[in-house]
Formats: sequence, C-alpha cells, structure tokens
Amino acid sequence: MKRKTMNDKNKIFLKQLLNREIPDQNGRFGKFGGQYAPETLMPALKKLDESIRQYLNDESFQKELVEELHQWAGRPTGLTSAKTISKLWGAQVYLKREDLTHTGAHKINNALGQALLAKKIGAKRVVAETGAGQHGVASAAACARIGIPCTVYMGAVDIARQAPNVDRMKQLGAEVVSVTAGDQTLRAAIDEAFRDWVSNPDDTYYIIGSVVGPHPYPFLVRELQSIIGKEAREQLLSQHGALPNAVFACVGGGSNAIGIFHAFLGDEEVELIGVEAGGKSQNLGDNAATLASGKPGILHGSYSMLLHDNDGLIQETHSVSAGLDYPGVGPEHAFLQSIGRVSYISAQDSEALKQVKECCSSEGILPALESAHAFVGAKKWAQNNPGKTLLIGLSGRGDKDMPTLSKVMHDE
Ligand SMILES: *Cc1c(COP(=O)(O)O)cnc(C)c1O
Repeated sequence: MKRKTMNDKNKIFLKQLLNREIPDQNGRFGKFGGQYAPETLMPALKKLDESIRQYLNDESFQKELVEELHQWAGRPTGLTSAKTISKLWGAQVYLKREDLTHTGAHKINNALGQALLAKKIGAKRVVAETGAGQHGVASAAACARIGIPCTVYMGAVDIARQAPNVDRMKQLGAEVVSVTAGDQTLRAAIDEAFRDWVSNPDDTYYIIGSVVGPHPYPFLVRELQSIIGKEAREQLLSQHGALPNAVFACVGGGSNAIGIFHAFLGDEEVELIGVEAGGKSQNLGDNAATLASGKPGILHGSYSMLLHDNDGLIQETHSVSAGLDYPGVGPEHAFLQSIGRVSYISAQDSEALKQVKECCSSEGILPALESAHAFVGAKKWAQNNPGKTLLIGLSGRGDKDMPTLSKVMHDE
C-alpha cells in the first residue's frame, strides 16, 4: 500500500483539528459528528458540554485524575521493545502496553476520567453500556473507587456469552441490566443506556465506552485516551531517540486508536494506520470493517461511517474479537480518513488468531484478540517497508479471550 499525500486544503483541516477549532461548536469534524439526539436529551448534552469546558482542564480535576491514573490505574504504562518480533519482521517494533493497566485494557483511562467528572458534576448514579464486558468492568471498578452506584446495560446475548465479565461487574458492586430489545448486543445496550439517561437527566451520568455517540462524547473520550500517545511519544524519544515511521492500532469504536494517534497527528512523517475487523470475509455481515467498506450515516447520535445496506438498515457485524464487533466508528476517524491523515485497513479473524500466537511465543505477552489485529497490519507493513521503526498499540490483555483461544487450539 502506497502512502497517500495530503493536499493543501486537507492540511488546513488538520491544522484546525490540532488548534482545537475542530470539532466546532456543533461537534462537527468536517461533515462528520454532530448531535443527532432526541429533544429530551439535548439539555443533558448541553450540560455535559459545559461541564467539560469547566472541569476537564481545571487544575484540581487534572491533579486528581493524574493521581488516580498513577496510583490506582497503573499509569504510565510501559513501552516494550519487541526484540524477537523485530528480528522476525526485519523492523524495530515497540509495543505500548495498555494491557498492563488496571482491569487489563485502555478502557480504564476513559472510565476513570468520566467517573471523576460525574462526581464533580454532582451525579448520584452512573449508567454505562457494555458489549463484551470490558467497558462495563472498567466502569464498575472506577465507580466503586469513586463511590458512585453504577448500572451497566448489556445485551442478553452478550450476557449469555460473557458470563465471567458479568460476575466481575457484579463483584465490583455494579447492577447489570439485561437488554432484551433489538439485536440484544452492544447496539441495543447503548440505546438502552441513552434511554435511562433521558429519563433521569438530572441525577444520572452516562459513561459511554468509546469515541462514539453525540457531541461532546467523541471529544471527551479522545481527550481522556490521548494520554496513551502522549506517553508513547515521550517514551519512544527517550528509549529509541526518534519518532516511529508508523503507528498501528485496532479500531472498534476507535478510542484506543485515537488515543495513540493524537500525539503524532502533527508529525507529518509518521504514518498512522488503523486496523479494523475483517472478520470472515469482505461480504457485508461477515466483518466489522466500517471505514474500509462502509458508507456515511447516522447511528447513536452521530454522523459517521456505518455498515448498512442500500435501504439504510444497519447490518449485523461479525468479528472473532467482541471489542471490534460494532457497525459504527467514531466521527473523528471518518474525518481523519477523509482528509487522508490516517489510513484504515482490515485484518481477518484467522490472521488475528495467528498473531496472538506469535506475540505469545515471541514476547511472552498474551494480547487481546482486538490488539492482535493491529499486529497483523503492522507485520504486513513491515514486509513492504524493511528496516523501519513501528509502534503498535497493545490495547489490552488476552486473558478474557482464553475460551475462544482454547476452542481454536482444540479444534486444530
Ligand atoms: C474495547 C476494546 C477495543 C475496541 O475499542 P476501541 O474503542 O476501538 O478502542 C480494543 N481493544 C481492547 C482490548 C478492548 O477491550
């Protein structure tokens, strides 16, 4: 794959993003983003927007957040030189280790930040949604730490297939509500969490799990996750003495990818590549490669790229990794793709499974199946660009995937 260059108009868009003129007051990243929410939710979104302006960069809020990230969540996370993989691939490969955070994935950066914000605003309870359970567990843990009751909405289908995470959330004191409406998975769980928030806008705070949803969520979650790239950039400069040639991250809703990419957006020479779930095949319904093969549309309050058919019906998606199994994607990714700053490719289930194995046996690290997609993209890139330096966002640990991995092992 040849790298595309940005034209002058797109360079201006990128500058506006870096200068924080994008997203604009309406939450637009170019034509993407916005607030497609019911009338009844608008006051709550407005209040959230004001609270973010008031608190997010406030000194005492930042002090508490940094302290909690450090003492409780395990930041900063390490940057590991992947020595064996580097030899195998003919590249210098570094891993940003979000798998080492408390609860095992980058999700805690966002859940903790928003739980602290909920407390600042004076919310009496928190609601969250979860698909595979990772964001639910992170939210339950953060709310327990901060001292706010937490209700997690989860599709009935997901509850049945993710029993250990359901019990983890309950153990951490959260109430788990089974969603039997719609597709009974993540999409329906998000709808239900919004519904709860609409009926209790004054005392409830909704912690969304990725850079999706109506404005200001994509902005808020990006701000909370961008610590990943800030740390990685500094660590690379001090451990390696130079910036990477390319950065790779998996993309579900897109929060870990935005988190690691942001610090490098202004470094024009650094190539940024998001890797989506290619699932079983390129046929609609067999994957979750929203940016690679979707079309623009509206889902969960935001205009972004989507997987829907010609009648506008949202499609069921498939991925071996539950965390990437979502038919939408954050609007900032759609924007970054449209201006040519980030490119998006996909990795298939079988390729991701192979990379889990390689990372385990070469580096002694069990990566999440989601993260393994980033490795697939990075390995292909390294084969076409020998001798370069690569940074991979290792978004989480793979312990949660052992049932899937065991099944594959036994079937082989
Ligand atoms: C949830 C999850 C993802 C996907 O979510 P993003 O918002 O795209 O980051 C990726 N990796 C892991 C380990 C996850 O738990």
